[in-house]
Amino acid sequence: MERCDVLVVGGGLVGCAAAWHLAAAGASVTLVDAADFGLGASGQNAGSLHFQIERRFLEQGDALARQAEQTIALSRMAIEDWRGLEAALDADLHVVMDGGFMVAETAEQVTMLERKVEREIREGLRMRLLDGDEARRIAPYLSPSILAAGYAADEGHADSRAIVPAYAAAARRAGARLIGRTRLDRLQRVGGGFEAGAGDLSIRAGQLLVAAGAWTPHICAMANLHAPLYPVALLMNVTERSRTLEVPHLVQHVGRRLSMKQTGAGNILIGGGWPSRLARTADGGFDPGVRPELIGDSLAGNLRAAIDTVPAVAGLNLIRSWTGVTAVSADQLPVVGEVPRLPGFWIAGGGSAFTLGPTFARLVAQAIGGTPAPELDFVSPARFEHLNSFMG
Ligand SMILES: Cc1cc2nc3c(=O)[nH]c(=O)nc-3n(C[C@H](O)[C@H](O)[C@H](O)COP(=O)(O)OP(=O)(O)OC[C@H]3O[C@@H](n4cnc5c(N)ncnc54)[C@H](O)[C@@H]3O)c2cc1C
Repeated sequence: MERCDVLVVGGGLVGCAAAWHLAAAGASVTLVDAADFGLGASGQNAGSLHFQIERRFLEQGDALARQAEQTIALSRMAIEDWRGLEAALDADLHVVMDGGFMVAETAEQVTMLERKVEREIREGLRMRLLDGDEARRIAPYLSPSILAAGYAADEGHADSRAIVPAYAAAARRAGARLIGRTRLDRLQRVGGGFEAGAGDLSIRAGQLLVAAGAWTPHICAMANLHAPLYPVALLMNVTERSRTLEVPHLVQHVGRRLSMKQTGAGNILIGGGWPSRLARTADGGFDPGVRPELIGDSLAGNLRAAIDTVPAVAGLNLIRSWTGVTAVSADQLPVVGEVPRLPGFWIAGGGSAFTLGPTFARLVAQAIGGTPAPELDFVSPARFEHLNSFMG
């Protein structure tokens, strides 16, 4: 039986980042991942560092948009975290934070944008509302059809494939034990701690952090808990390298699903939340472990939105599309913190955890170490505790 202070389940961005912070603070940490590190959502995502309120909150009406305001405090911390991350991890993560646009093409979208930017400025985000001509002066690649844009000076992007290996290496340097290709298959409360296992491996831990992305509900079920995180399947596309088109900013759309950015090599990455089809298990449930099926209409819709926003991408060949699975919660906010009914059992997942993951992993590690992190109160699993009141 191995022993550690904290067992982390899941070796994506959130798990590896939390393991690093915990080990650096002096805890003995073991992390297990079912596969190789970073093969879940963390290695499949668009790499956007988007700090403006996301469209997915705006499209659900005012109540959700108001709720999303609360994430701005976390976004402001994430800006600082990302600006220092390459130095802290001693790794090249291709971080570019030269600003981002969220554009509008109709009068209705402009109104939505105005209200959003007002909210963001009130919450302390460095934002400006630009008319179409002002936006095109900074970003000449934008279509003449763009009427207005919210400009966030700190937005940008980073290389999603570089971040997990960098966090994993830092965690190992700090003394954490990282075990790949080991799928946790049992978990129980023992005394004041937890006993977990995967095949022949048994681990006794004082505290447990579930950072298993879309698989989090599955791990929580082993401890007889509900975690309201749901798998969703998304689409990503990448074009060939462009020698002529230069898109140095993150580009999003307030009324259409779109995120665009250019890699250092010149390729344009196009995404923004277009759905793919989740695979199913034999008994009809969703299977986040199997690559989702690409939906043709999503591909066409995503590319149309990209061309309407940045017309020059129409001249580039698409070289690859892929699908990936991430987790959203019942209210779209992340779920990060200790489960009230099971002291020592922590969850960190959901939301846009490429952008915010470094921050909530740092804060949850701090809280596990005994220093409260009130910044996480609004994303605590406590808000879903009613679901577990029936769980015996
Ligand atoms: C296509 C796509 C585009 C996205 N774009 C963006 C973006 O631009 N910006 C942004 O902020 N966010 C984006 N996201 C979301 C972001 O990628 C995720 O929120 C984030 O990567 C989640 O990280 P994680 O560590 O929580 O989960 P994951 O990276 O999914 O890691 C979970 C890990 O748990 C492991 N695991 C599962 N079951 C077990 C088990 N039984 N035992 C041990 N280990 C287990 C898995 O192997 C996996 O490695 C996107 C997601 C997708 C899919």
